[in-house]
Amino acid sequence: MKTLTIVLLLAVVSVVSAADSWRFRAGAARGDITPFVGGNIVGGFNPFPSKHIHDPLYARCLVLDNGETRLAFVVCDLIGLSHFLCDEVRRVVEEETKLPAGNILISGTHTHSACSALGDRFATEPDLDDYQKFVARRIADVARCAINNLAPARIGWAVGSEPRHVFNRRWFMKPGTVPPNPFGGTNDLVKMNPSRASKDLVKPAGPTDPEICLIAVQSPEGRPIALLANYSLHYVGGPGPAHISADYFGMFCDRMQQLLGADRQDPPFVVSLAHGYFGYLPTVEQHQLGGYETWLGTNRLEIEAAPKIVKTLLGMLEQLK
Ligand SMILES: [Zn+2]
Repeated sequence: MKTLTIVLLLAVVSVVSAADSWRFRAGAARGDITPFVGGNIVGGFNPFPSKHIHDPLYARCLVLDNGETRLAFVVCDLIGLSHFLCDEVRRVVEEETKLPAGNILISGTHTHSACSALGDRFATEPDLDDYQKFVARRIADVARCAINNLAPARIGWAVGSEPRHVFNRRWFMKPGTVPPNPFGGTNDLVKMNPSRASKDLVKPAGPTDPEICLIAVQSPEGRPIALLANYSLHYVGGPGPAHISADYFGMFCDRMQQLLGADRQDPPFVVSLAHGYFGYLPTVEQHQLGGYETWLGTNRLEIEAAPKIVKTLLGMLEQLK
């Protein structure tokens, strides 16, 4: 494996002190949304039953309040969420906490190792299934707990760049070499996840987004409260066959807690890594090993990806002090 050098381009660092008697407050919480073993894992085209829990799935919530406006950011270890589920969360949270429904942002990490909270994708009525009901209720719980945890805080944010893990996985191919797509179309110019070894590659179909951005909040004394990051790397998973897992997003959160020495706090330090664009493939090495079709055999390389990103972010966090 090549030695990879961390490249950090620190573009913006800012710290806001609470000059006006700590009017600014923040609170965070997380709750378990791990499904029962046996439910279908939906990362691929064909769902298959889960057989093991490698690591739990969480809904994570950060609430910010400047004394005038209250916002909630929710990130869930799910491949996606239906808008009916999100609507239900917003309805319940507003009803129970008065936090306006329109001030609640909800996203999924896009782990490929979770059961579906999407429900019937073609549904026109809000008829949530059992797992969706559980997830909706648990997100509402987590938002409520984050509000309970609101405390005086200061906030910082930073933007960095880590381009080595993001690739555009859609490529222009030589005319006539794109096979029929899964829906039968034969006039595509661009193919998703072509083999890196293909002689028919022409060029990527667009740019990548290498930006890592984060918001960090801590108490006036410096106790970490929460960190919300965003990066455009598609899932990197593969903990084991039919394993439920938060994929690298969960590793990132766990490792950040450890590296910041903040994994034994009350209230807990909550880390979230939200998904940006679906950048892929993860590594040059993986390309050289043959491309997307080999990821199951090679993603052990990416076990190191989360710590690398963590290292980058730690450098950024140091700038916040
Ligand atoms: Zn995906």
